[in-house]
Amino acid sequence: MTAKIIDGKAVAQRVRQELKPRVERLRALGVQPGLAVILVGSNPASKVYVGQKTKACAEVGVHSEVHEFPGNVDQDSLIRRIQALNASPKIHGMIVQLPLPDHLDMRRILETIAVEKDVDGFHLYNVGGLVIGQDHTVFPPCTPYGVQWLLESEGIRIEGQNVVVVGASNIVGKPMALMLLKKEATVSICHIKTRDLAQYTILADILVVAAGKPRLITAPMVKRGAVVIDVGINRLPDGTLAGDVDFEEVKEKASHITPVPGGVGPMTVTMLIWNTVEAAERILKRNGAPETALA
Ligand code: NAP
Repeated sequence: MTAKIIDGKAVAQRVRQELKPRVERLRALGVQPGLAVILVGSNPASKVYVGQKTKACAEVGVHSEVHEFPGNVDQDSLIRRIQALNASPKIHGMIVQLPLPDHLDMRRILETIAVEKDVDGFHLYNVGGLVIGQDHTVFPPCTPYGVQWLLESEGIRIEGQNVVVVGASNIVGKPMALMLLKKEATVSICHIKTRDLAQYTILADILVVAAGKPRLITAPMVKRGAVVIDVGINRLPDGTLAGDVDFEEVKEKASHITPVPGGVGPMTVTMLIWNTVEAAERILKRNGAPETALA
């Protein structure tokens, strides 16, 4: 059996098409959804990610602006800019591209973003909302949100399934586990201190891997017929990209698998735009727009 390869690019394209009429309705009400991206320093990977985000915004009709700062920027300047963007009627969603240089207090900076504009879902309010399962008022972090969307768009049952998440970061692993718990899966989280990783992964009906370790997951670690979602993006010494899963081996055993690139990556960017449009709609409703105008 060869796995069905989940085409993240195609699913992302469909989601972007779904967003276009919502953007049109907002424009008819005099609002163009707007995303602000704060970029500190000159990390080449961050620049690539920011470029992808602004391109995706343009494709869907969302306004975007990048606020660039030198790597040695002082914290107060950043905070002041975020406060100005919080107050700007042109901006409905705001993100700070991570990682930040060490001299900056990441938590304090993220906590300065207005909760209703926190479209990356990293503000503690949004994190807390995810913990208690309040999914209609918070913004789910974009990468795990994209994974959940991929699973649902493939018609993969989550409820009651054994899910194993490899990786426990605040950006991917932990929120992923919480989202799938909310969907009533039985979730295990593995991390660097997990003794005998394979003992867990072999039990997974759905295996989500976000460790940042090329080819960490090999075929003997995967249950036959499992759904395997590879979040990892690793640059190999020869310059090519690889995920955390040995794709060639594992695709012969899994029922579904995501490729790298072309799997989770395009969904991450798309869910950011989704959250931004959602933010614009929520702000408009809060300011008194009738539900029917946005339906
Ligand atoms: P991270 O902050 O480095 O977290 C990685 C997690 O994996 C940590 O919990 C780490 O444990 C754990 N881990 C590392 N090696 C492990 C091992 N051998 N066995 C079990 N657990 C292990 O990275 P991240 O931000 O979550 O990102 C993970 C990967 O996803 C990276 O490759 C990143 O580039 C990629 N990514 C992709 C997208 C996308 O859109 N496709 C978005 C975000 C991230 P410790 O912390 O205890 O070491």
